[in-house]
Amino acid sequence: MAVNFTRELNCLSDAPSLWRGIADTERMNRAVGLGRIEVAPLEGAGAARYLVKTRVGGVRLEYEERPFEFVENERLFFRRVQRRGPVAWLEMGCTLAPAGNGGTRVGFTLALQPRNMLWAPIVRLEGRRTIDSFIEAARDLDRELLRTGCLPPGVRTSEANEAALARAAGVLLREVAPARRALVEKLVELVRSGSDQEVSRMRPLELAEAWKVDGRELLAVCLGAVEAGLLELSWDLICPSCRSAVRRTASLAEVPEAGHCHLCDITFGTEPHQAVEATFHPPASIRAIDSGPYCVGGPVRTPHVVAQALLPAGGEASLAAPREPSRLRLFLRGGPTASVQVAPGAADAVRVEAHADRIAPAGIELAPGGKLLVVNRTGAETHAKLERIEWASARRHHAHAHRAARIPRRGTPPMRAAAYQADPSRVTRAQPKNAPPPAAPPDRPASRRALLASRAPGAESPGARSAR
Ligand SMILES: [Zn+2]
Repeated sequence: MAVNFTRELNCLSDAPSLWRGIADTERMNRAVGLGRIEVAPLEGAGAARYLVKTRVGGVRLEYEERPFEFVENERLFFRRVQRRGPVAWLEMGCTLAPAGNGGTRVGFTLALQPRNMLWAPIVRLEGRRTIDSFIEAARDLDRELLRTGCLPPGVRTSEANEAALARAAGVLLREVAPARRALVEKLVELVRSGSDQEVSRMRPLELAEAWKVDGRELLAVCLGAVEAGLLELSWDLICPSCRSAVRRTASLAEVPEAGHCHLCDITFGTEPHQAVEATFHPPASIRAIDSGPYCVGGPVRTPHVVAQALLPAGGEASLAAPREPSRLRLFLRGGPTASVQVAPGAADAVRVEAHADRIAPAGIELAPGGKLLVVNRTGAETHAKLERIEWASARRHHAHAHRAARIPRRGTPPMRAAAYQADPSRVTRAQPKNAPPPAAPPDRPASRRALLASRAPGAESPGARSAR
């Protein structure tokens, strides 16, 4: 018989603020002291896409990771089938409900099926400890949100080498224009005291938004920091659907011709206008950060996804539309999509059929807060998600300087491409000899067709995810 735990907590913060912390499962898992995980792609296990290995209390665990099911700002749920370890399966859920005073009632549930009677007492003990630590972590989030308006700093397990940091900072301060020195100080402080998660994949434009400074300025400072030895530059291959990094390379020359997202089961081109993003992290000589991962499935990894559900083989699932008018895309694992317009006056519920190669109908209108009933005709357990299109467009526009839009690729020194990002006019007028032709507009039909049609076997390296 399964062991069940339920806990509730009244928070004073609103649900969207708490969601940013709770649904960031990488941050939560670090906060509650769970172990680092090793991730390998998995085939033929229904909706499960990864096999995860980790340790809890010295005990080795191995489990199948299915995509999380969630509705943004409201709830998340996951089920893990363990191949090795004291439980046969576990299910964990979290709900966030408005509490009337502007606050939120947060509920956690945990169900664990001990593998046998011998394990039952330990499972009961560990289960109670786990759910209590999640409640404590949620309480910390609420407290810090009320105190500062920001999420609490994440876990920091590595210390900076102060001498090496001071040396690199000194070089950078000497090199930059006086007007940029304040930004350098801020960057150095982040490298010194940011959480391991924060500094393992620094994205200048996102940081600039949080710091309320000019993105181009910060990007220029980050590029200077690479020259000064304070930061290293990496190139992340970004899945066009889930927008997570499926692979990281040290130089643009190593970026492959095609990327494969094992989670979404799509293969995509890495033409210069799409799919590649520059990120920064300190070298190990300055700070030996723990870059994880501690989780691969949390909703905050895919902030443009408003809802995601598993579709049982031959069954169906319901996806909730946002309460405000929006343009969305329904995505089925493997690539089929349908456009979803959320508009007042449209139907409260719409039923669609998901086939391996298409979704019918391909255009859907739904009322705000409406239900999209997805019937699974693929013959196997799979998953579907509702993605916000406005977010993706705004993000693409905003992140334009980040990514390899029009960045020369193969054989091109990374710094030249990076220089483009700091100042496009410097590079676009001086293309190197072997540069590819200028990129087509982002949504050109050919690349979209290629994205949807291609399902070639994985070009992704097995360690790609765990390398992040
Ligand atoms: Zn993906």
